[in-house]
Amino acid sequence: MQGQRKALVCGAGGFIGSHLVKRLKREGFWVRGVDLKYPEFRETEADDFVIGDLRDPHTCKDVVDTRFDEVYQLAADMGGAGFVFTGENDSAIMHNSATINLNVLEACRGRNTKKIFYSSSACIYPLYNQLDPDNPKCSEDSAYPAAPDSEYGWEKLFSERLYLAYRRNYGMDTHVARYHNIFGPEGTWRGGREKSPAALCRKVAETPDGGEIEVWGDGKQTRSFLYIDECLEGSIRLLRSDFPGPVNIGSDEMVTINQLAGLAMEIAGKKLSIKHVPGPLGVRGRNSDNNLIGEKLGWRPSASLKEGLTTTYHWIKEQLANAKK
Ligand code: NAD
Repeated sequence: MQGQRKALVCGAGGFIGSHLVKRLKREGFWVRGVDLKYPEFRETEADDFVIGDLRDPHTCKDVVDTRFDEVYQLAADMGGAGFVFTGENDSAIMHNSATINLNVLEACRGRNTKKIFYSSSACIYPLYNQLDPDNPKCSEDSAYPAAPDSEYGWEKLFSERLYLAYRRNYGMDTHVARYHNIFGPEGTWRGGREKSPAALCRKVAETPDGGEIEVWGDGKQTRSFLYIDECLEGSIRLLRSDFPGPVNIGSDEMVTINQLAGLAMEIAGKKLSIKHVPGPLGVRGRNSDNNLIGEKLGWRPSASLKEGLTTTYHWIKEQLANAKK
């Protein structure tokens, strides 16, 4: 460990965190992960993995027991539309995630650990700019006057401001990204917290050719989806740059949910019909605006949705087959 760079990944048992640990290990870091749980789909590659609750300030202090070169704060109480937009989880989402962010920042300040990445979300963008599915506005400067459509978005907005206040007041090197729908293998694919790419891949994989799948709403709502590898690339580049953000990390390949379902069917080689059913939906349209990231980091995501969805579909198909054994 002598001379080796050290990284801390909060939320290392989650989807993005577990991939990030692998990536940092490949770069030669000594990595500590912390989460309420171990990664669900494979053994962690972290050198040290602490099972702990970051809502507890003592746990945070114990975990930040040295001066880390890089901290990635990804821990949050979160899920897809079925978790965030029903209203039932609002107080838990706000209380748990805000407490984690307050504690992690204080623990880092106490150890003079300065370089911290924070994952905010496209959910902070105002509802009034996302009513037209063909023309959503998500440039970074459109965040205010604030009007997120969920309490999840409000908590993220508060925490963005918290990270940037610590930068101004305590000289901490905090960086804020706004992720737009990250997807890929080894992410939640069933159980209620899964996001639309995983949910649609699962539905397509488990339905015989010629059958029917359900899609929430009319399926004309638009979104963009970013493959996990590009999310990690953008996050690491942002943390190591001079730019604090907030900046979008997302794809600008916008599709309707019906098109996303069609793509999953094409990958599977199946023809299925779509039954539109009521369900929690979120905004009508959303797409990443990548002008600022291109300008500030000289890099922007470029992989196609089809490429990432193909890998994800095959991984979910394998999970289904294993679940049946
Ligand atoms: P995830 O739910 O898979 O990972 C979050 C992890 O945080 C989970 O493993 C969870 O157990 C852990 N956690 C929750 N409460 C905790 C606590 N009290 N103490 C310790 N650990 C705790 O989510 P993800 O998709 O990997 O997202 C990572 C981050 O990126 C989150 O902050 C999320 O809000 C943000 N984000 C993700 C997306 C996306 O599309 N995945 C989009 C926008 C923002």
